Amino acid sequence: MIVVKIGGAQGVNLDAVCQDIAGCVKQGRQVVVVHGGSAETNEISTQLGHPPRFVTSTSGFTSRYTDRTTLEIFAMVTNGKINTLVVERLQKFGVNAFGLSGVDGRMMLAQRKDAIRVVENGRVMMLRDDFTGKIESVSAALLQMLLQAGLTPVVSPLAVSPAGEALNVDADRAAAMVAGALKVDELIILTNVPGLMRQFPDESTLIPHLPKAGLEQALSFAEGRMKKKVLGASEALAFGVGKIIFADGRVEQPLSNALAGHGTVIS
Ligand code: ADP
Repeated sequence: MIVVKIGGAQGVNLDAVCQDIAGCVKQGRQVVVVHGGSAETNEISTQLGHPPRFVTSTSGFTSRYTDRTTLEIFAMVTNGKINTLVVERLQKFGVNAFGLSGVDGRMMLAQRKDAIRVVENGRVMMLRDDFTGKIESVSAALLQMLLQAGLTPVVSPLAVSPAGEALNVDADRAAAMVAGALKVDELIILTNVPGLMRQFPDESTLIPHLPKAGLEQALSFAEGRMKKKVLGASEALAFGVGKIIFADGRVEQPLSNALAGHGTVIS
């Protein structure tokens, strides 16, 4: 069984990714798909007159400030449009895909971060009314039930709080939690770069293999949202996932390419 995370950044070749996933499923492999949606959420929220606002936490991680309106737009775009289109693509390639978010059946439970400490213009401030969360548990049983019924789960990055609120969660960390809960050997993170670079964007500095001990240092040269992927990778390793591969989602056979070890292999 493998978990494949499809990035929401521009450039990822969704047709090629879905065709490659279909190939794996036809060979008898079980695949769980997790996807993002940040680029499209930015675009549509701007069109709807509610442009995105990003905040940086005191520990240096950037995330989307998610007020109630943003949460609803995020759900509409990510769980509505993108999830359906990924399921549609997989159906087109003969895979009986089944879309769900972590809210459905309480598949992903998260703690709401109702007050977050952020740094703006050098000043630390508290932001309230934020609907983002940190995933605490994933129902492997629900995903197993779908897999046993011959369905391929396609998960969008929303979770539910113990109080029953829908929350925006980071898709890379969600994929890490799903991979950990299912105890898979491989988590493949497809994005719009060939892997982790020591000096982004110089592709000649691509890191082919990163041992666990190098993850902390990697956090210092991963910028912006790449930091979340590195954090997700260290969480996945801690949950017992054998290896995490950051690979290019823009190429012809993105998944086969990643499984062949092209990209950054973290183990
Ligand atoms: P996705 O939507 O696929 O999750 P993100 O936009 O969140 O992708 O993250 C991928 C981006 O991270 C790349 O497009 C690149 O701009 C950026 N990035 C920052 N630092 C690095 C780095 N050291 N190596 C590779 N990419 C990096």
